Amino acid sequence: MLADTRPKLTIIEESLVKRYQSLLGLSFLSLSMMACEPNAPAEQTSQTEAVPAPVASISDGNITAERVLDADAEPGSWLAHGRTYGEQRYSPLNKIGKHNVNDLGLAWSFDVEEQKGLEASPIVVDGVMYTTTSWSAVYALDAKTGKQLWHYDPKVPKEYLRYLCCSPANRGVAVWKGKVYVGTINGHLVALDAKTGEVVWDVETTPGAPYSITGAPRVIKDKVIIGNGGAEMGVRGFITAYDVETGEQQWRFYTVPGNPANGFENPALEMAAKTWSGQWWKLGGGGTAWDSMAYDPELDLLYVGVGNGSPWNRNIRSPEGGDNLFLSSIVAVRPDTGEYVWHYQTTPADNFDYTATQHMILADIEMDGLKRKVIMQAPKNGFFYVLDRTNGEFLSAKPYVQVTWATHVDQETGRPVEDKSVTEFTERTQMVWPAPYGGHNWHPMAFNPNTGLVYIPAIEVPHFFNGRKEMDKKRIWNVGMNWVKPEETAETVLMNKKLTSGKMIAWDPAKQKAAWEVTYPTPGIGGMLTTAGDLVFHGVPQGKLMAYDASSGQQLWESYTQTGVVAPPISYEIDGEQYIAVMAGWGGMFSLTGGTVFGKDEGPGPNRVLVYKLGGKHQLPAAKALIKEAPKPPAQTGTPEQIAQGGALYDEFCQFCHGLHAVSGGVIPDLRHMDEQTHQSFIGIVYGGMLKDKGMAAFNDHLNVEEVQALHAYVIQRAIDTYGDERLF
Ligand code: CA
Repeated sequence: MLADTRPKLTIIEESLVKRYQSLLGLSFLSLSMMACEPNAPAEQTSQTEAVPAPVASISDGNITAERVLDADAEPGSWLAHGRTYGEQRYSPLNKIGKHNVNDLGLAWSFDVEEQKGLEASPIVVDGVMYTTTSWSAVYALDAKTGKQLWHYDPKVPKEYLRYLCCSPANRGVAVWKGKVYVGTINGHLVALDAKTGEVVWDVETTPGAPYSITGAPRVIKDKVIIGNGGAEMGVRGFITAYDVETGEQQWRFYTVPGNPANGFENPALEMAAKTWSGQWWKLGGGGTAWDSMAYDPELDLLYVGVGNGSPWNRNIRSPEGGDNLFLSSIVAVRPDTGEYVWHYQTTPADNFDYTATQHMILADIEMDGLKRKVIMQAPKNGFFYVLDRTNGEFLSAKPYVQVTWATHVDQETGRPVEDKSVTEFTERTQMVWPAPYGGHNWHPMAFNPNTGLVYIPAIEVPHFFNGRKEMDKKRIWNVGMNWVKPEETAETVLMNKKLTSGKMIAWDPAKQKAAWEVTYPTPGIGGMLTTAGDLVFHGVPQGKLMAYDASSGQQLWESYTQTGVVAPPISYEIDGEQYIAVMAGWGGMFSLTGGTVFGKDEGPGPNRVLVYKLGGKHQLPAAKALIKEAPKPPAQTGTPEQIAQGGALYDEFCQFCHGLHAVSGGVIPDLRHMDEQTHQSFIGIVYGGMLKDKGMAAFNDHLNVEEVQALHAYVIQRAIDTYGDERLF
């Protein structure tokens, strides 16, 4: 079924939308979503609720193995990243149900200091919420009132931003026996005192740049486990376990083999090396485990989602072919030792950035009359997988979005059957579905054991691939691909023609088909929560949180959030009241490159924790208008050759943060809107690092002054081409 998610527009707004539309050549729908936000109607009445007294004492954060293993005995807590080790993101709470969800209102909100997007799943235990924001900061809040208990800022070097593919996001903490664990963008794992937020220990988990951490640690059997990212920049992936008390390293599992001349760390990597060719270790190999983990305590298996190849281009990475284990795989290891047990590779010989780092769910479901212990994943490659989690046996896989790189997954071998007419794209351009964004990315799914359905925040976006013959060592984002000219790219041409969309798919894993789905005008919808109240909650980039009937897909409730919501909601209960909480803050990959889709200007609403309850009367301050005057760009003094050179350099170095074609996705400043002073300082900023403490690193190790001048000419031209004399923004 389709839900009409279009907001109601006033006549004035419609005229503005039409002007933007004619200026930018974008579709009505996506722009109308944008334009409605500043004037969204208030959800609640004007009454202000009396603020209850803060909790008397701060929680010890005393989460233990016993408590997590018996999480259903305290359904009012959210003790682990996906609530339980099986990561179902299902809350057994049912006081909020289909009959009364329409009475949900804000109980409280909390404005965080950091403003680059929120992706975290909070942990809630004994009345305290522990959560993270961008720049790896941590908050402890009274979960009933929103009162701040402490704030930890690791003061990460902000210029590190250039090593992150997709914003300085963080997806949450782990809490265990009085300590709170956070991974930082510059590769540290920090243990904080749960009562005070003071640092207990701090270890550097990587060799440094370009490794990064955005994922949430998990704690299993007194070991805190963390992976890392960086496969777009040439690294070798691994996960590491540390002692929860001391931070001492317990084990490390590399996800791809290193140089055979140095010997292999374990027999699994010796086996994996047989699936590689050439001198892959010189390029890193990739396979970063940057997000998903799950744990089965009965089988004592830790499941790790492994990322894409580094570089993406397999002809460069492993020129004589091979599957390149354990890229794009689910790997099961022993949590005590990191010893390999089994693996299943979703995309052999990954050539497309098809990570298998997407959320994994453990469940026991009936398939063909048999109750199976399964692990389920919708990785980037577009197929929904159901595996036997005891041994990694392939059970089934079917496409949940449009897929063109493979025709199907062979039921006998469990291997995808590639369509070579699509996947051989070296030195020619080929449209492939899904894009490197994936059919599904990090935004978590949820599984409701009552409906038997998995709710997937899905992405329908293609990409134009064009493989290089060899690496260009000058690059930072270095994946062995050419960036295709603007007029040929999927992101600009197809998205604007509305051939792409976002979807919530209610997927029946036993039947391997959608029970129902809701289609949205843009991709980028947020992570999922499902509850025993037969509800599904999730947010959208257009600044709303909604609730649906988990059985039928009927929309039941929505709330304006004043900023895009990508993080997954959670639920908890205090003093008999059920709460729905979400980290609201537009961010992540679409907020960087996707400005051409979303049309967002910078400053799309403050980043906040929003917490709802039945009858909640708290009101947000009035939303800030997005529309503002853009300064007039300076006169173009660059030559056409310089502008063209600058455009090519922009695509190599700038677009991953500042957006395709210099259109910001709303989080990083839009370069078309620079003021006079910024224009005058352009070389000092880009070459000299004047704004490195705000996240804009110096690029003098990759660009010379003439190249920076060419970049400047290109950016000025983009401002002139976009706005001319209208200067509406
Ligand atoms: Ca990647």
